[in-house]
Formats: sequence, C-alpha cells, structure tokens
Amino acid sequence: MKTIDKSNLDKIIGILKKDGYTVIGPIVKDGAIVYDEIESINDLPAGWGDEQEAGSYRLVKRNDESLFGYVVGPQSWKKFLFPQRMKLWEAGRDGRGFTIKHSDEPVPKYAFLGVRSCELKAIFIQDKVFNNDLYTDSYYNNVRNNIFIISVNCTQAASTCFCVSMKSGPKAKDGFDISLTEVIGKDGHYFVLDESTEKGKELTAKLDAEIATDEQVKAADTRVASAELGMKRSMNTAGIKELLYHNHDHPNWAEIATRCLSCANCTLVCPTCFCHTMEDTTDLTGDHTERWRRWDSCFSLDYSKVAGGNFRTSPKARYRQWMTHKLASWIDQFGTSGCVGCGRCISWCPVGIDITKEVEKIRNSPKTKS
Ligand code: SF4
Ligand code: SF4
Repeated sequence: MKTIDKSNLDKIIGILKKDGYTVIGPIVKDGAIVYDEIESINDLPAGWGDEQEAGSYRLVKRNDESLFGYVVGPQSWKKFLFPQRMKLWEAGRDGRGFTIKHSDEPVPKYAFLGVRSCELKAIFIQDKVFNNDLYTDSYYNNVRNNIFIISVNCTQAASTCFCVSMKSGPKAKDGFDISLTEVIGKDGHYFVLDESTEKGKELTAKLDAEIATDEQVKAADTRVASAELGMKRSMNTAGIKELLYHNHDHPNWAEIATRCLSCANCTLVCPTCFCHTMEDTTDLTGDHTERWRRWDSCFSLDYSKVAGGNFRTSPKARYRQWMTHKLASWIDQFGTSGCVGCGRCISWCPVGIDITKEVEKIRNSPKTKS
C-alpha cells in the first residue's frame, strides 16, 4: 500500500490526459453529483456530500474539503459504456440502391475516476450482458477494453445503500487499476492507494507516492468499516429467485401499482438496467436514413408492444417484471443478481418505492407461497 496527497491525485489526471484518456469524474451539476469530463482536481466536488432517503436526494455542505465525500448520484458509468442515444448506422440513396455507412468516429478512451465498489460490480454485470456467448456489443467492448479505472472506497453510506447485503461493497476488491481510500485526519488529507494491474503500477511509478504506514492503512480501513457499519438498509437474498417465481400472483404487486407512476426513473438510474429500443429516422428528401439506439425501460408501455398487442399493459405487471427480472430471472440469464444495492432506484423514485421493503413485504406476507 502507498499514499499520495492531493497534488499527486492531480498528477494522475494529468498523466492520464497526456496518455490520451478522457478523464471522467464526479462534478456538481444541477444540484447533484454527476459524472463528466474533468480537467483537474479543481473540478471535483470538494466539500460536498449528499443526503438520501426514499424519494429524496440533496447535496449538503460538509465541514471538510473531502473530494469524494458523497455516495452515489443519479448517474452511473453505464452512460459512457452504453450511451443513452447512439447512432448505429446511416444509409444514403445511391442510384436505385443505397449505401450503408457505419460510424467512423474513434472509440473514446476513458479513464474513470471515483468508481465505487457497487459500481464496479455493476460494470461486471453489464459485461455479462454485452459480452456473452450469444451476443457481443462491439461499441461496449471497444470502450471497455481500453478503460482505466480508479476506484474510490466508500467511507460513508447513504441511508438508501444496501451493498453489504448484496456483497458488492463498500470496499473494491478487484476490477480496478488503482483504488483509493480518502483519509482526512490529524495527519492531513491523503489517499491510501492500492495498485491492481500493470497499467496501475506503471502509473503509480510516475507519482511521488510514499509507502503507507500501518497507522495510515488502519485509518483508511476504519473509515471503510464505518461505511459498512453505517449501512441501514439490507436485502435478504436467501431463496429470492424462488420467492419471486412462486409469487407471481401475490397481492403486493397490485398494492405497489397503486403507488408506482411507471415513470421509469428506477430503470434509468439503475447501473445495470440495459433495456433499449431502436429508432429509424428518414429525412424529408427520402435520400438519407439513420438507425439510432436509445435507452428504453420495461416501465414504458410501448416497450411491451408487439405485433398482435401489448403483453404488459398494467403498472402491476410492469413493476413485477422489473423486480422479478432484476432479482430472479437475471440469475438464470446471466448467473448473477441484477442488483448491486446502490440504492439509486430508492432515492430517485418520486414516490419513494423501496425495492428492499417490497421484497420483505412479499417474504413476510401470510399470502406468500413457498
Ligand atoms: S435495482 Fe436499485 S439498488 Fe439495485 S442496482 Fe439497480 S438502482 Fe441500484
Ligand atoms: S418504482 Fe418508482 S421510479 Fe420506478 S417506475 Fe414506479 S414510480 Fe417510477
């Protein structure tokens, strides 16, 4: 383990930029912490934290200058690996035929700074979605294979977090090039640094890093442990697949539907949801057409519209589909839960529907089938 100070964190950003990476990190924008391109540590949300509850999120000023003193905001890294809207190809009239042109834009080379442990797990999950035996998404994989990841361990939990019960946090164990734990204490403001890959070691060798003392490592571990101990929510995942499969007709689905607005917020903020649709557009001359891919949601009515009708017309059916896919059929499909316990769907649901509570209601109801 090593330690670096803030100026060396800035140096990391500079080295990565020089190596051709677009560095993406947390910034404050529109009253939330979001992920966007950064130039230096001056862009990071120094002194900002967040308070989250079911149906509520707000930024709060901290009483220190922590650069990573927030938890997670409405965005996740999926917007860079699986963009909200992307042109797949375009075609132009060519005499009596047409010519198809695929995008010739260079694939972005991203460095992600500030990836939380649950978000790393979400990237692993999307790896299974976009790179499996049946389907390989070329854009996703081209970006993913060039990425540099700097994870940041959580030193506090939002009240909506439940990553411990999903075994996805609060400390990143693998999947990063470099991981950092931020410490602000009597001995100053520094980061305990761990390198995982050759790329990470090469970059660290260019820094003025020092070997971490036992006290510094302990200070970092204590802060991560406090995030774990401070986690108020949890999800009991024992037998969850069977619980949901056997309770397709449970009365709780209808009760949720009295609150759910089918707004799709939960799916848009979720770092693992991947539903998308295709849109074809033609210009007025009829000489040019484009095919775009854009995010969609199983909560949108049109998503389940097929030739012959719509097979999921009620909010009850749509919420049941989302939760059963996320926590049960995802396991059959991809060998993992679709939930990492980041809590975004709880904070950003306008009516505060809480996936952990809904699972418990079904689990503990006298009407539940075993
Ligand atoms: S279902 Fe909710 S808690 Fe789970 S990963 Fe998605 S947004 Fe996070
Ligand atoms: S559960 Fe909440 S966020 Fe999701 S669709 Fe329903 S109202 Fe919207």
